[in-house]
Amino acid sequence: MTEPASSAHRYPSGSGSGPAPRATGEAIAWICETCGTQFAPSFAPPAHCPICDDERQYVGWAGQTWTTPDALAERHAIRIADDAGVMTLEQTPGFAINQRAFRIPDPHTPVLWECLSLVTDDAVAALRAAGGVAAIAISHPHFYAAMAAWSDALGGVPIYLHEADRAWVQRSSPHLRFWSGDRLALSDDLELVHLPGHFAGSAALWWKRGPRPGGSLLPGDALQVTMDRRHATFMYSYPNLIPLGPATVEDLRHRVAPLAFDDVFGYSAGRQIIGGGKAAIDASFDRYLAQICDRPRG
Ligand SMILES: [Zn+2]
Ligand SMILES: [Zn+2]
Repeated sequence: MTEPASSAHRYPSGSGSGPAPRATGEAIAWICETCGTQFAPSFAPPAHCPICDDERQYVGWAGQTWTTPDALAERHAIRIADDAGVMTLEQTPGFAINQRAFRIPDPHTPVLWECLSLVTDDAVAALRAAGGVAAIAISHPHFYAAMAAWSDALGGVPIYLHEADRAWVQRSSPHLRFWSGDRLALSDDLELVHLPGHFAGSAALWWKRGPRPGGSLLPGDALQVTMDRRHATFMYSYPNLIPLGPATVEDLRHRVAPLAFDDVFGYSAGRQIIGGGKAAIDASFDRYLAQICDRPRG
């Protein structure tokens, strides 16, 4: 994550210093420039962003600022790529937390995993050309982005969120589907797996036989693939470097243990472990727990 560049389309919150919000005749679904979350339409920018006020995120160094869907569309596009055999969507130039979304090509329930702040006709057309999207599922509130607008653009597909994070939703939608418990099967080959820690409702998508036969785990940042692309780490806050404690990480290990996978697709472009992913995550649990418990590595 980096500080967003200064923008001519930047609107501050409320009546603080800086330029006044644009006068407008219609309500706008404002988007926070630091976390990329879209809010329920309002005439003036929201007073604050609860996602960025939370200690897991941060308010931008220039203060709380907002952009609009139109301004975002003027300055950004969506790049479609094939990353290690999976169709990915990224906003370009990068924006806010800069996560990618994935189209998981399940024959019965193709899924858009994670979400972006920008919706474009070109990206929707590309998803349709690839076989469409039957459901959106998102790992945690940092990636809720413009989920309501994406569902609308895709014909009102359901959006699966874990109910433990319901309070973080900033723009509701009739298409939200809150799931509970440890697992939710979206198809024979796709399951949502509850991995609480970073958020109470953090979840991974377990793709049992794709894109290679050994399967994949797409954990958002419930576990975050590290820069060496051979390990993961387990943090309450990544930008503010607040680690998860040993009991929570042991619980995550218990939840990941039954899942078979070879690949781990992390939250941003190129951030993945291709082959040996299960062993890499096991080794990462060992390393992290030894470090945080201040004991020799076994
Ligand atoms: Zn925010
Ligand atoms: Zn996060």
